[in-house]
Amino acid sequence: MPYRLFLGTILLIFILQACKSPEKIVAPASNELRPAKNIILLIGDGMGLPQISAALYSNNNKLNLEQFSIIGFHKPYSSSDLITDSAAGATAFACGVKTYNGSIGMTQDTVPCTTILEELESRGYATGLIASSTIVHATPASFIAHQPLRVFYEAIAADILNVDVDLLIGGGKRYFERREDDERDLYEELRQKGYIVSDYYKEELKDINPTTKRPFVYFTADKHPLTHAAGRDYLPGATSFAISFLERRSDQGFFLMVEGSQIDWGGHSNDGGLLVEEAIDFDQVVGEALRYAKRDGETLVLVTGDHESGGLAINPGSQMNKLQLAFTTNGHTAAMVPVFAYGPSAELFSGIYENTEVHNKMKLALGIHDETTSSSK
Ligand code: MG
Ligand code: ZN
Repeated sequence: MPYRLFLGTILLIFILQACKSPEKIVAPASNELRPAKNIILLIGDGMGLPQISAALYSNNNKLNLEQFSIIGFHKPYSSSDLITDSAAGATAFACGVKTYNGSIGMTQDTVPCTTILEELESRGYATGLIASSTIVHATPASFIAHQPLRVFYEAIAADILNVDVDLLIGGGKRYFERREDDERDLYEELRQKGYIVSDYYKEELKDINPTTKRPFVYFTADKHPLTHAAGRDYLPGATSFAISFLERRSDQGFFLMVEGSQIDWGGHSNDGGLLVEEAIDFDQVVGEALRYAKRDGETLVLVTGDHESGGLAINPGSQMNKLQLAFTTNGHTAAMVPVFAYGPSAELFSGIYENTEVHNKMKLALGIHDETTSSSK
């Protein structure tokens, strides 16, 4: 029957079309995108999709993260393990290389790699790091230090003195001031290098209005800062402080990384209350960054996690604002992690890609084209 033949032909064409290998949708070349002047990179340690969902459903179904329309996923595995740690995860963002778990700013062959902070600093950008852990902990450290193991906190602190970073806010004063490995007083050395240095013993961050003529370091704790539940409240305020400080430090632009460090610790301790509270606090940081970027128009805001922590599940029996959370591990998991992007060149961050691509895409977004990802220092 001709009619059947006709239907058959249509079906065959349809099947052939469907079998054609899917064409990759290519993002527009970077020269077609408006370049960004500034980048604010927000890293929620251990913040995967379950953590974001738990924060959302524990916060009356509302997060600042919902303001993003460009969303992608990165594959967080490291060179040594399918399940990354925070050192390899942050080094992938910082340097664009997959490295082994525990590596701080080094390739898998323990060669120091140039971080985006170091590269932008040398190009005249103002740069800053903020964390709700010590400033020498794996995530912030991987943007500014080069050590074969993440636990070398005092060596990481000494590395920081080698970089002309413009702003640091986080815990870990003891690794600078009361060191065990050597007699150096890095707190004093920072001062001699021209930094305004202060800490929570002396004054509250919100009471300080430092000149932007000098770089600035503020220690929020001797070791790790408190949890948000125990009274730590500086992260969103430090972010807006840092933005206005850094934008006045350079006409070239600025790079600021802010870490919500303790979301991860809620995963490790299988403490749903802790991770939800830390994730909601981190979402306030997201709100501060977006408020500035919407006004400024030249700032790319990125929000992501380095990996998921705890194998978190929102179990049956959960209700809005009343979740039944469960965990599969007190370590990390390998699930892909969302990347949220807003601002000039944000389009680059849609799709699925390696965590190292976050680094490459940031440079593309700034209009930096050289492909150097590692060099000895
Ligand atoms: Mg961390
Ligand atoms: Zn962790």
